[in-house]
Formats: sequence, structure tokens, C-alpha cells
Amino acid sequence: MNIPFVSLKKMHGEIRSELDEKFASVLDKSNYIMGDELEAFEKSFADYCGTKHAIGVGNGLDALYLILRAFGIGDGDEVIVPSNTYIATALAVSYTGATPVFVEPDIRTFTINPEKIEEKITEKTKAIMAVHLYGRTADMDEINAIAHKHGLKVVEDSAQAHGATYKGKKAGSLADASGFSFYPGKNLGALGDGGAVTTNDDELANRVSMLRNYGSKIKYDHELMGNNSRLDEMQAAFLNVKLPHLDKWNTFRNKVVSRYLSEIKNPLITLPLPCDDVHYNIWHIFAVMTDHRDSLEKYLSDNGVGTNKHYPKAIHLQGAYRHLGLSEGTYPIAEKISACELSLPLYYGMKEEEIDYLIALLNSWSI
Ligand SMILES: *Cc1c(COP(=O)(O)O)cnc(C)c1O
Repeated sequence: MNIPFVSLKKMHGEIRSELDEKFASVLDKSNYIMGDELEAFEKSFADYCGTKHAIGVGNGLDALYLILRAFGIGDGDEVIVPSNTYIATALAVSYTGATPVFVEPDIRTFTINPEKIEEKITEKTKAIMAVHLYGRTADMDEINAIAHKHGLKVVEDSAQAHGATYKGKKAGSLADASGFSFYPGKNLGALGDGGAVTTNDDELANRVSMLRNYGSKIKYDHELMGNNSRLDEMQAAFLNVKLPHLDKWNTFRNKVVSRYLSEIKNPLITLPLPCDDVHYNIWHIFAVMTDHRDSLEKYLSDNGVGTNKHYPKAIHLQGAYRHLGLSEGTYPIAEKISACELSLPLYYGMKEEEIDYLIALLNSWSI
């Protein structure tokens, strides 16, 4: 049996005719940038997240970067980010001219450990970026309390958390502002690149909506030195088709994960934490840990199962961040995750017999 790491075929197959119709409708309207589809999507995505504003942008990296810029963060400032996340979180900080300061995650939750944040706060710290990694919300009450005490902004990186909740409130509504990605493989994905910023802050929303469009509100009047980072009409239109299905897709993933969590039983494999009363996880990634990762990866691959690693090289050890001079051993938890984490197949439309097959394979794996 062959099980890919991810497949969007079933998801897109079921809404194919709606997507085709939207494509034709946008093509016929001949308005490809900043039109009705974007306006409609911004309204429904803000409603979905429970925020006053949603602003469509070009991708998730820009969403985070534009938030930081709009808050006035730049040269000489520091922003706290988790040491295990996708590199975009750190790059968003670096692009403003500020420096990312890494804080280790909790090895069980995979999200930033609030207890390790305060020791990294300096005079230069301006914000904390909380990443809802793998679809599980970070411990926001603790993070917001620390930020409040020190007068810092809190930015959510919700690129892996569309629909995830914390104490019943949606990711995107849990801090001063939040960045989303609609990269195709995310739980809510466009058919290309896309992103959004959500916030309840009118002033921030206004600045981000200018910054994404050449710093302009009125055509050819440029109040700020902005970027070109707009969510185009075609992608907004596809997202308008997809958003109403998001909860159903997330519920499906949760059902698959319930089976993984109750049926995978192998002492060599550590499973991630289940959802609890506080964190509703939308399982962007199902991350297991094992001391024999290469062996498990090869075993699954030999048996037709695709896997992935999130992420195989910690950010502080990447060439892009060599200038920070952070050697191996500086962030042992991030390094441990990068050495031991394996992501198992999880997508809408996985068949019961595929799940059976994968669970049986995992339970009979030994080294
Ligand atoms: C995908 C992702 C991003 C970046 O989104 P893009 O749309 O690819 O720019 C940022 N942060 C995290 C945690 C992500 O997973």
C-alpha cells in the first residue's frame, strides 16, 4: 500500500466544480487585485477568527513581517521567537532589522516554554512571537501576562493553526495581532501563495493594509514605504470556496489522530499530547518523537509510507543565521526535536484501511 505524506486530491476533488466556477467568474470580471473576492474573504475570515479585522496579504512570512513593521519594530530591537519553528518566524523579525532571540519550547507541547521567556527579555525586547506549532495553540495566558508586565507586544504565528482554539477562542484572536499562511498544504490553503493578518487593533489594521499595498490608501498617495504583498482575487476567491469546509476538514484530521493516539503502541515511539480542555489542536502536523528516527523513516518509506521532518535543522544552526554565532548545544531542545521528530501522514480523505495499515506497521516496527 502507498500512503503519501500529504494529498490534497480528495479535498479539492469534492469542491472541484465550485473552484472551476470561481475561476471562471474571476476571469470574466477581469479584476485581479483588490476586488470583491478579497473584501468578502477578509470579512468572513475575520468572522471565523472572531476578530474585528482580517487583511489579506501575499503569504505568511509577509503577514508576520508587516505586523512587526506596523508596530514600529526595527533596527536595534529584539523579538522573542521559539527555537523550534519554521524559519519564516525568525526571518520576519530579521527583515525588519530587529534580532530574533530564541527561547526553547516545551518538549511535550512543542510550543514556546513561558517559563523560559523572562530570562531573555532585555531593554531592547519589543515583542514575543508565539507559534501555534503543528496546530496546537501556545500557552497564551502565561505569554500575554509576561508581555503585559514588560510592556511588550504579542504576535501569534498562526500559519499552522487555522481553527485551533485556546480556552474556546480561535487562534488569530489570542494576542495583539496574528499572521496566517494559506500555503496550499496548510489546513486552510489557497491554490498558490497567500496570507492574512488578523487583529482587533484598528490602528494596526490600517497600517498593515497600507503597508501591503505600497504604503497607500489612496491611489498614488504613499503615506508609508510599503511593500507589494496583496492577496490576489483568484486566491481570495478559492479561499472563499474553501473556508466554509475548514471545520469539517479539521474534524476529519482530529478523528484520524484519535485513532493514532489510541492505537499506536510502540515503546520506541513517543506520541504528541492529545487535545485537552484548553487546547483544541487542529493537527497541522502529527509529530512523533523517536531516538531512531532515520530507521523509522526508512522502514516506513520501504513500506510505501511518506513522512516528513519539521524541522530537520534548527534555525540557529542554519547558514542564514551563522552571523548570530550560535553553536551546536545552544538550544538542546530544538536540536533534540530536529534529530528525533518524524511527521506521519495526515490529510483529509485518508481511508480507514490506510490508517489501519499505518498503525499496524508502526506497532510492528523494531530496531
Ligand atoms: C508556513 C509557515 C510560515 C510561512 O508561511 P508562507 O505562506 O510559506 O510564507 C510561517 N510560520 C510557520 C510556523 C509556518 O508553518
